[in-house]
Amino acid sequence: MAINFLYPDYEVIRNYDRCIACRVCERQCANEVHQYDPDTGRMTADESKCVNCHRCVSLCPTRALKIVKTDHTFKENANWSGQTIQEVYRQAGSGGVLLSSMGNPKEYPVYWDKILINASQVTNPSIDPLREPMETRVYLGKKPEGIERDKNGKIINNLTPQLKLNTPIMFSAMSYGSISYNAHASLARAAEQLGIYYNTGEGGLHKDFYQYGPNTIVQVASGRFGVYKDYLEAGAAIEIKMGQGAKPGIGGHLPGAKVGEDVSKTRMIPLHSDAISPAPHHDIYSIEDLRQLVFSLKEATEYKKPIIVKIAAVHNVAAIASGVARSGADIIAIDGFRGGTGAAPTRIRDNVGIPIELALASVDQRLRDEGIRDQVSVVVGGSIRSSADVVKAIALGADACYIATSALLALGCHLCRSCQSGKCNWGIATQRPDLVRRLNPDIGSERLINLITAWDHEIKEMMGGMGINSIEALKGNRLMLRGIGLGDRELSILGIKHAGE
Ligand code: SF4
Ligand code: SF4
Repeated sequence: MAINFLYPDYEVIRNYDRCIACRVCERQCANEVHQYDPDTGRMTADESKCVNCHRCVSLCPTRALKIVKTDHTFKENANWSGQTIQEVYRQAGSGGVLLSSMGNPKEYPVYWDKILINASQVTNPSIDPLREPMETRVYLGKKPEGIERDKNGKIINNLTPQLKLNTPIMFSAMSYGSISYNAHASLARAAEQLGIYYNTGEGGLHKDFYQYGPNTIVQVASGRFGVYKDYLEAGAAIEIKMGQGAKPGIGGHLPGAKVGEDVSKTRMIPLHSDAISPAPHHDIYSIEDLRQLVFSLKEATEYKKPIIVKIAAVHNVAAIASGVARSGADIIAIDGFRGGTGAAPTRIRDNVGIPIELALASVDQRLRDEGIRDQVSVVVGGSIRSSADVVKAIALGADACYIATSALLALGCHLCRSCQSGKCNWGIATQRPDLVRRLNPDIGSERLINLITAWDHEIKEMMGGMGINSIEALKGNRLMLRGIGLGDRELSILGIKHAGE
């Protein structure tokens, strides 16, 4: 028998004084970690299968369980960590590409945590958001170059279609297939109630969700899954996905096991076939080609929908964004390398792309330098974790933020990073009907509404503290930011001073 060189990452600690052998943990774990031993009348655990999703810990009625990181260690050194050693063993055993999910977990700098926000003191007094109006509503899309009037002096409305958001936050693209029906239902209902948008991702739009069209962004990705006229017309905006922060430069792959009847109908692909979207769009090899698709989509929807072009944050992102702005797109979405995903090759997730903070600052600066900043709105995503990140992103130049991982956390995700297995115990990244049922869309949407409402309050408080009463006045206001512990080059790219200056 071949030796298994791998060791479990976690240990299941069961307090047998508390355990009543109710077998809840056994029923709740899709990874089959827990078993009941009828000979001893006790529960046992196969720790090699544990992904630390905390489903059993949360549902154990007697709080008998805890999961701890194993303190077993390899003979590590500064060059060879235990994880690196295990990955070599894994590939030597399988011969396959390592797969992971969610965003880049490596210890690259998180610039949001190295940026501090200003507050007014004596002059330019702060504003109390409980007593004075604060405007967090934003409109995304091209801004008119000037005011035009007809011969009677009446203003001519020459606005291109805009997206109106009650708060500068949207739910980022997550496809039906990678996440469950109930997760999509939760996002759609919350977006409608909040007056914001959720995004279909590349998986098409389930017929049940056409009713949420006014709060839906429909995506056109390289696989063109589920794209047809009704789909394009159903949404409030259309997003062309050129890249994704978690896996820049490659396509997507939804395994056939996840392509059940509903997903296959929605994606318009055969039942149980792998949904593989190619790395490039086969009709886009230049900005001129992108422009053709932008205008084809505008034409197909009678110029009633703003077009978003989503790109991954990569080297030369500012030049790429400048090209996108000239392609006729109304909104550029930039996705940083910490952006989540249902499945990505681990090496790509962990080594390709750049932090969203640096990408945003350089894109905003470039568009300003070229005098085209008002021709597009800029939306950023890729691990926006709190209202403070939103405020910093807007002060760095964003018009709004996309969130996804935070939204999944609100739905109950425990960041176990095993979405690619399709066995999400929280009913989110799965298509197994018994698991999907675990996520109640009524509760899910309520929790999402709570999260965004809380963030909106906090954004208003931070804005008030700066003496700013509208998102428009915060946008690109880098004087409100200071760096801490950053080098001159980083400060220069971020366009901010160091704390104390
Ligand atoms: S859920 Fe808790 S009490 Fe029930 S069998 Fe598992 S560990 Fe024991
Ligand atoms: S969505 Fe589910 S599988 Fe994916 S990280 Fe969250 S809890 Fe784990």
